[in-house]
Amino acid sequence: MSKYPPALQQLMTTLKQLPGVGAKTAERFAFQLLTWSDESLLQFSSTIAKIKEDVPLCPVCHCLSSPTGCHFCNLAKRDATLLCIVGSPKDVYAIEETHSYSGLYHVLGSLISPLDGRTLQHLNLTTLFHRLSEHPIREVIIALDSTLEGDATALYLKEKIHALNIHVSRLAFGLPMGSPLEYVDGGTLSRAFIGRQLF
Ligand SMILES: [Zn+2]
Repeated sequence: MSKYPPALQQLMTTLKQLPGVGAKTAERFAFQLLTWSDESLLQFSSTIAKIKEDVPLCPVCHCLSSPTGCHFCNLAKRDATLLCIVGSPKDVYAIEETHSYSGLYHVLGSLISPLDGRTLQHLNLTTLFHRLSEHPIREVIIALDSTLEGDATALYLKEKIHALNIHVSRLAFGLPMGSPLEYVDGGTLSRAFIGRQLF
């Protein structure tokens, strides 16, 4: 039996599901929350409850959007001849921070990983190939993690996109092997963008 009341234990168990939060940190967070006012707790829980509704995924590029529209699909502000393919919505923000890119994005949502049961069906490919056939895109930049999964996915995309007679490049320069994109520092990522190579 847990030493804590069941509801508190349940809160700690939930908090432990967050990345980087172990038992000790979950305990600290839970006891901290107990000191918050009812009003603050209500606001916090309502923010969490509505997060997916308030931050929907754009049906075109699968980036994080807003109920008023997708910032990343704004053709008046973006270079619509470039399309950068990333794994997760978080990668888009890492690339935006480098100020090295102003084209469009396409978020795959997952990478090919047969061992984890993630196959082509789990990737946002239908919308990707629709965009490539409908829009005058001259270069696709593959900006996936430098991991086995990222490499397998990049190879698949390269073959498919080459067949459409569109240039494909991939970030390579300076990216450490085995590194998820989100952990690469801004300077390295910026250089990787400028030094991208035809793939
Ligand atoms: Zn969009």
